[in-house]
This record gives sequence, structure tokens and C-alpha cells, in this order.
Amino acid sequence: MQNQTKQKVAYFSMEIALSNDMHTYSGGLGVLAGDTIRSSADLKLPLVGVSLVSKKGYFRQELTPEGKQIEHEDPWDPAKFMQLLPEEVTVQIQSRDVHVKAWLYNVVSQTGGVVPVYFLDTDVDGNSSEDREITSFLYGGDERYRLKQEIVLGTGGVRMLEKLGISIRKYHMNEGHSAFLALELLRQQEMDVEKVRSSCIFTTHTPVEAGQDKFSYDLVKEVLGDHVPLEVLKSIGGEDRLNMTRLALNLSDYINGVAKRHSESSREMFPGYEIHAITNGIHSYTWTCESFRRLYDKYLPGWANEPNLLVRVDLIPDEEVWQAHREAKKLLIDHVNKVANIGMNIDVLTLGFARRATEYKRATLIFSDLQKLRRISRKAPLQIVFAGKAHPKDYQGKRIIEQIFSYTQKLKDDIKIVYLENYDLITAAMVIAGVDVWLNTPHPPFEASGTSGMKAAHNGVVNFSVLDGWWIEGWMEGITGWSIGPPPEERISPEERSSREVDDLYNKLEYIIAPMFYTKRDEWIKTMKNSIGKIAYYFNSHRMMRRYITEAYF
Ligand SMILES: *Cc1c(COP(=O)(O)O)cnc(C)c1O
Repeated sequence: MQNQTKQKVAYFSMEIALSNDMHTYSGGLGVLAGDTIRSSADLKLPLVGVSLVSKKGYFRQELTPEGKQIEHEDPWDPAKFMQLLPEEVTVQIQSRDVHVKAWLYNVVSQTGGVVPVYFLDTDVDGNSSEDREITSFLYGGDERYRLKQEIVLGTGGVRMLEKLGISIRKYHMNEGHSAFLALELLRQQEMDVEKVRSSCIFTTHTPVEAGQDKFSYDLVKEVLGDHVPLEVLKSIGGEDRLNMTRLALNLSDYINGVAKRHSESSREMFPGYEIHAITNGIHSYTWTCESFRRLYDKYLPGWANEPNLLVRVDLIPDEEVWQAHREAKKLLIDHVNKVANIGMNIDVLTLGFARRATEYKRATLIFSDLQKLRRISRKAPLQIVFAGKAHPKDYQGKRIIEQIFSYTQKLKDDIKIVYLENYDLITAAMVIAGVDVWLNTPHPPFEASGTSGMKAAHNGVVNFSVLDGWWIEGWMEGITGWSIGPPPEERISPEERSSREVDDLYNKLEYIIAPMFYTKRDEWIKTMKNSIGKIAYYFNSHRMMRRYITEAYF
């Protein structure tokens, strides 16, 4: 084995996105986990990752001509990418021993840093066919299936690290899914809560009660059995139902939200806990397109492992920034015209909106007033690129995709709109770097952080966003981009808020954004550069990991 003498931080996450061909992620949470690992490798941090192998993936999205989402299994072969380790551990599920093995994937940085990631797998000899499926589908199945997965991740993960002889100084739970790790530590420490707390860190990502994982105690008794006594479990995980967020909160001595605003709402939601804020970041090199990488290499050498250098973006001539953007935009427009054949034009102001299709993201806000949108586009042409998957059980989310398809039809003589199928890491990188404006219209306060706007900024793409999540911290009106709607502290009715959001969306598009894009190119490029120099230099996962190191890990 590798040198395991030094104590490590163990980073647990239900999903970790490391490569487009390894279907171990669904969206933002997994991408964040991947960026965490990549920055840790660059910075040579003593960190290991633990996740599930999700051999049949999340799902592959097919969209019919009407925009109906069809979900396909998305299998992949771990053996092509990783090494199956000989070690095996067992966890008890429904009073059976379930065997768990691990695949090792080493994330190797250009700097020479290496972060091993262990993907747990129950598709192992000796398990029943049912148990072999536990690590098949990311976020698949019913509650019982989810509970089993969380037991494998948390309990199985802790036991696997022990079996591998890796000594751990801190366990970091990325969201409540992995909170059973703390329960396993509690069992090992003979119910010494303080001792467990001193080694656990919890990052919450859910800004609302409804988003938290909860299991009935009947189900818990059946599936988990008497891993720890039920009274103990109820006292730390909630009396009525086992709430994984509560469990994590009660067993961690460092807790954080993923943006300042999100930490505030988390403190309101969980009074009595000290909840810190470490605002998310993205892995700069991964999310910067080829043409901008070249530009940064030329003018800001060393930027990839020191993204703070992007603050010096003014060293780059305007013309070269514009050319780098045109190159990324051409790749996107060519791709769109190849798959959709709708004659998108590289000279037209292009908006992008690609993220999970779910109610609170409000992908259809821009279609609130079609007459107005048409009028704007007649003065200054527009085109829009959409992408995003709806969770198979998010029926509203699926309807949103269909609605976008129907608006696309209604507007087809005025605005070219495309919805790209099967949003993944590669589509994300292409769309985010290739549009001019990154549109973000979540319903506050539901966007805990959001990260795609940070990716946009790394590519000189300008943010136009509701003031929620990270954007509250990145936003300087007219300098780094534009806001949609009032700031969160303004106490107004939900109706008034929505109407001001729609007004801002159309008015700023018509009177500020489109005119600047088409007629004041130098001001536009200045805003692009500000996105790089005032957003990307800060909203990256190198800065984020340094915060975790100094505040949480040590
Ligand atoms: C960055 C990313 C996300 C997260 O986007 P948000 O802005 O947080 O909604 C989701 N999916 C993919 C594939 C991504 O790359």
C-alpha cells in the first residue's frame, strides 16, 4: 500500500464527479466534491475521498421532440478506470451481512499531489442479488434503497478506511447522506458523543427543511437494526424520524453552510448550532476552456495552482479576451447547429441556462411575458441555450422541460432556443464557456450557493442573476454583472418580489445588457474582465480548501 502513516482527512460524499465517463455524479453536489478533490490534489493536502461506485449511473437523459424526458440506465465499467482492492468489509443491513469492496481511483495533480478516492461497491461475491444492487443507481429507488446506500457509504466507508490501515484525523461529511459515518464512530467510541464530535465536520447544502433526508424509525429498525441503541439514536437524530441533517449537526463540532447567506438561513433553521460560512468555489483549471487557459498561461503564468493571480487580468489586452471568448462561443454554436440545426449565429447575444430542472431554479422565468421578450429580441437579437436533467421522480421538473420546449416553438420565428440533451460535465463546460451571459433565476433562498456562475466567470462570461447564494457575495452591480430583483434583506411580499424580478430581467436585458453587448464592446469586455479579476480570482476551490484547512480541519 501507499504511505499511510500520516493522518488524513476523510471526505465523504454520496457523489463525486471526477470524469465524464465515470457516472458517479448527478449535478452540483458531485461536481463540488470533485473540485474539492482536485484542489486537494493540487495543494498536496492529506485527504482521501469516499463515495459509492454507482455502477449504473444516475441516468442518461433522452428528450423527445416534445421535451418529454426519458431516463435510461447509464452503466459504466469501473475496471476501465480504477483498481479493485482486495480488502473487504461487511455492514449489517436487514440483519444480513453485506460485503463491501472498494475501487481505488487516484486523482493525480500536475503538481505531483495525489488524492486517493475509494468508491464502495456491494456487487461482490457472497451478497444476494438484491444487495449487489445497493451501489448501482445514484439517488435511485425508494427510501429503503436510499437508507441502505447511506449505511454502505457511512458505516462501510469508515470500516473500509480502517481496513486499509488509513488513519483519519477528521471526517468531513459533504451533506447529510454520509452521517452514518458519525454513528459508526459513536458505536466504536462507546457512545462518547464529545469524542466523536471532535473528529467530525459537516457541510450542509440544503436551505430548506423539505430537502433533508429523513427516515421513519420503523424503516430504520428494519434496515439498520440495533447498530446503536434506539434511544441514543432518537436523542441525536430526532424523536419522530431519523433526520440525517440533525444527526450530522449533533455529531460535528465544525458545521458550515456553503455561502454566507446560506449559513444565515441555516442558523435560523437550526437554532442553537454554531454554523460557519465557507463559500463554495470551483476548480479553476477544470472549468476554464482551452482558449482562456492559453491566455492565462501567457499573461498570468502559474494561475492554475494560484487562481488569485487572475486578479491581474488587466494585463491581458481586450482584443485577446474577446478572441478567446469567440473561440469558446464558436465551439458551442457549431455544436448546437450540428445537433439541432437551427442556425444559431455567433454574432447574436447568447444567454445560457443549464442546471438541474427543478421548480425552485425557475428556468421559465424568462418566458413570463412572451410579447415583451419578442419585442426585446426584435430590437437586439437574442438566442438561448438550455440544458439540464430532472430527477426521475421530480415530475414538476420534467414538466418544466416540456414547457421550455413549447416556448421554443412559440418563439421560433423570433428567438432561437435550444435545449441540449443529457447535461453532463462536458456539456456544462461547453455551454458555460460558450454563451455571453449566464442567467440564474432561482427562487430565494433556495439556492444554497450555486456554482455554475463561478465557472462562467472563469471564462469571461457575465452573470445576470437573482441575489441568492454565492452571487450576493460576487455581485457588484454593473461591475461584475447584474442583479435580478431586490437584495434578500428587502422585506417585501413574494408577489412584489417576483414582479420586480421579472421587471429587472426584461428591463436590464433591454436597456443595459443588449445595448452594451452590441454597441459598447469595450465596456462589455471590461465587464468580462471584471468577472475574471473580481470573481474567478476568489470563487475557486483552492481558496475554499484553504478555508477548510485553517478553519475546519486544523
Ligand atoms: C456546475 C454544475 C452544476 C451546478 O450548477 P448550479 O449553478 O449549482 O445549479 C450542475 N451540474 C453540472 C453538470 C455542473 O457542471
